[in-house]
Amino acid sequence: MKSWQAHPMTNLIDKRGAYVSFAKAFLLPSGRTTLAKRILMSERIIDFSKVSGRPVALQDQFQRQLRDLRISVMDRCNFRCPYCMPEDKYHKDFQFLNSDDRLSFSEIVRVARVFAGFGVRKLRITGGEPLLRANLPELIAELSALDAIDDVALTTNGILLAQHAAALKAAGLDRVTVSLDSLDDDVFRAMSGGRGSVSKVLEGIQEAELAGLHPVKVNSVVRRGINDSTVLELVDKFRGSGTIMRFIEYMDVGTINHWQPSDTVPARELVELINARWPISPAESNYFGEVASRYVFADGQGEIGFVTSVTEPFCGSCTRARISSDGNLYTCLFASAGTDLRTPLRAGASDAELADIVSAVWMKRDDRYSELRARNAAPADKVEMYYIGG
Ligand code: SAM
Ligand code: SF4
Ligand code: SF4
Repeated sequence: MKSWQAHPMTNLIDKRGAYVSFAKAFLLPSGRTTLAKRILMSERIIDFSKVSGRPVALQDQFQRQLRDLRISVMDRCNFRCPYCMPEDKYHKDFQFLNSDDRLSFSEIVRVARVFAGFGVRKLRITGGEPLLRANLPELIAELSALDAIDDVALTTNGILLAQHAAALKAAGLDRVTVSLDSLDDDVFRAMSGGRGSVSKVLEGIQEAELAGLHPVKVNSVVRRGINDSTVLELVDKFRGSGTIMRFIEYMDVGTINHWQPSDTVPARELVELINARWPISPAESNYFGEVASRYVFADGQGEIGFVTSVTEPFCGSCTRARISSDGNLYTCLFASAGTDLRTPLRAGASDAELADIVSAVWMKRDDRYSELRARNAAPADKVEMYYIGG
């Protein structure tokens, strides 16, 4: 099987009965959560009761429940990672959104409340670079005060984290994920488009730990021939420290990063590489829909994760919706179009009317782009990741 081909199990998604029986036969004795097992787990958690005629837990066309919301608060970024926002396109004259175009904090909180009404309990604040949004701790405080929300996380490139970590924690932030693609400054800058520095990101991670945003997760996108030679160094740095390192397969998000299948280093290659140096074994997922496949070090030095979106897609357990900073709702990272929530919000729509829009979108959802990647089913105009957030 070529690295970019869909996992064979994924073809069963539109035959749900077959899916389940297939899954039962293929649960791995190792305890690793396979796509099939995630489907089995979903069987047990779906609660599709109704309140006032509207389902309180929404299911899409493949019985995936709406459970997580990623909120992009900023389309701008202080990096120009060539895999996300290449400098030649996002140059100094590029027209980003005006601040009026972005949802205000009160609009974001309203949207979050509507999603919470459908059972969403986890929010992730992202971007662009979310720490470029002024007064972010105020938003975090409002979101974490929502009764139904029990987990508010942030994804950042870490450059501004040291100065904001304590205020974010005090505002109620539960967790932070910091992107760091290499510890080698030259390689780091090849990945960041020449912006930032390793030492500044490490300082951000340290301040986040000190502030109590524990455990910090570190995300590293791996691009063949660019930063793959520095993977073991990253593992070495964080193993045993309590910080959890996660390697992400480089994906064909958007249309401008000129992604080629051969640019992606399959996670299994990294597993073999790391395992040869520090033996690791698969571990159970912490919860249904967890994006990373977990592994633990045999010598007790903690865990490590792999996000296998390209070589082992996990659309079957994808319970995530995304809101762009200008208020468009997306149901897949690879979507070409979203649904405008800002216009109704600003036209005075009630929470019930917003909820109707959200439920109609989610119940129609049939996205599974990563599983169809091998069939070349890519929409020509996929949305860019910096715009809807990772
Ligand atoms: N700027 C913040 C950051 O970099 O952490 C948050 C937004 S960024 C879009 C979120 C995550 O998406 C980052 O971890 C980044 O590495 C990842 N990402 C961006 N483009 C990607 C791609 N083409 N393939 C895989 N991951 C990607
Ligand atoms: Fe900015 Fe994050 Fe995209 Fe890099 S991955 S350009 S840091 S939004
Ligand atoms: Fe979810 Fe779309 Fe990614 Fe599949 S491709 S896991 S549906 S975001």
